[in-house]
Amino acid sequence: MKYISTRGNYKQVSAAEVIQLGMVPTGGLFVPQQIPTFSEEEIYGMKDNTYQEIACQVLKEFLTDYTADEIEEVVNAAYNQDNFTVEEITPVVKLDEQYILELWHGPTAAFKDMALQIMPYLLAKAIEKVELEEEVVILVATSGDTGKAALEGFKDVDGIEIIVFYPDEGVSKVQERQMITTKGDNTAVVAVEGNFDDCQSTVKEIFADQEFKELLETEGYQFSSANSINWGRLLPQIIYYFVAYANLLSNNELEEEDKINISVPTGNFGNILAAYYAYQMGLPVNQFICASNDNNVLTDFLKTGVYDINRSFKQTISPSMDILISSNLERFLFEVTGHDAAKVNKWYQQLQDEGKFKVDQETKAEIKQVFSGYYATEEETLETINQVFKRYNYTLDTHTAVGVKSYQKYKADTNDQTSTIIASTANPYKFSKAVLQALEGENKLKDEFEILAKLKEVSGLKIHQGLKDLDQQEVRHNRKSSSEGIKAEVKDILEIE
Ligand SMILES: *Cc1c(COP(=O)(O)O)cnc(C)c1O
Repeated sequence: MKYISTRGNYKQVSAAEVIQLGMVPTGGLFVPQQIPTFSEEEIYGMKDNTYQEIACQVLKEFLTDYTADEIEEVVNAAYNQDNFTVEEITPVVKLDEQYILELWHGPTAAFKDMALQIMPYLLAKAIEKVELEEEVVILVATSGDTGKAALEGFKDVDGIEIIVFYPDEGVSKVQERQMITTKGDNTAVVAVEGNFDDCQSTVKEIFADQEFKELLETEGYQFSSANSINWGRLLPQIIYYFVAYANLLSNNELEEEDKINISVPTGNFGNILAAYYAYQMGLPVNQFICASNDNNVLTDFLKTGVYDINRSFKQTISPSMDILISSNLERFLFEVTGHDAAKVNKWYQQLQDEGKFKVDQETKAEIKQVFSGYYATEEETLETINQVFKRYNYTLDTHTAVGVKSYQKYKADTNDQTSTIIASTANPYKFSKAVLQALEGENKLKDEFEILAKLKEVSGLKIHQGLKDLDQQEVRHNRKSSSEGIKAEVKDILEIE
């Protein structure tokens, strides 16, 4: 299996090269040259398989330059009972015809663990395969969930250093605590003055700084990235859509040949794109519901065919979806146009120049066949958490609530009775404040750890292992920097003069 660029501007490369490079050096994203498929028998047969077995089945189709033994080794190193609190890894909870696919039983309580637990092992093998001599430095700018998931995934991995930058005032107390108490000898965490945009643009500038890159290379380092532009983060997310379907078959919730809908709370379009790849591989999907919050660029795009980021950025109670430029949409457009790099180039040039582009009728029709876009307002998100709790005694986090509400709107519009899987992307305790507000109304509690305790009392839900006793853990990282000072910070961490 070879990989190609969505912009048609790079040679074909192997999976190992793709994972090590992160993104196409000349701009664009790597995608598989052709998508492998499973037969119906193979898919139905998965109902007797474990998460780990299905993981091996999926990964070996795409990682043809890894041996079967290597794949099994990385799968077992990632998806085990030390890292995940439940044996099934991604259990499904039934709320009538809605099936909540819980993707947050990993160490950091968000679905980012599903990929970031395995990606470091895939990267370590990739480094061996491409015979990279330099030590790899992973730079991460995070607005919350990716930072901690990447730290946990990469801590104490040989040959890799990880440095995470987060906006000093842009993350919740729980998220900050999670990051600054991280253990491991190769981890560094820096609070950056300003908001997430300042943080992210400075990190991007470092990636683009040729002189700085060369300095690092002479010192034996090479940069890489752990965000969802890296194929190594997208690929492991295909697995759990097959696992979920297999689960519903084995529990007689579905019969062979039954189709499903999949609703995904979406930010960077990574998770829903992984579901689309599963569909391309043969998973019987009727409709994808792309769920957004008030930053509803994608809802508009799916309705009108116009992608327009000329609008104000809104801070919401589902902050991990607060994004206007969904990077992985580029991969999706490349796929639905039948790999038309010329079109993709044109649209992304327009996006850069004018902040918007419009797809042609043919592409729009192709997308409409399987994709619907809906969004939930802040008010609707809170109401949904409240109603689901009252009706089912089940607590949703704010992001998952957006997925549920969007599905409900879709159902009201279409009366489609197909069983629907809703990707549950975070544990409710990660967003305790908003969830408690949804259940109880406004409250006066200020301290996030008091809020956590109060939410436990109200919801009766067990506190996620990764969030327990956070306030008592040793703070190991206290670096602070202005955004201008980030480069100096990197040098200091790597002990470069
Ligand atoms: C990252 C994240 C999302 C968005 O996922 P994408 O793959 O970027 O679309 C949704 N919910 C939570 C909790 C997240 O952390």
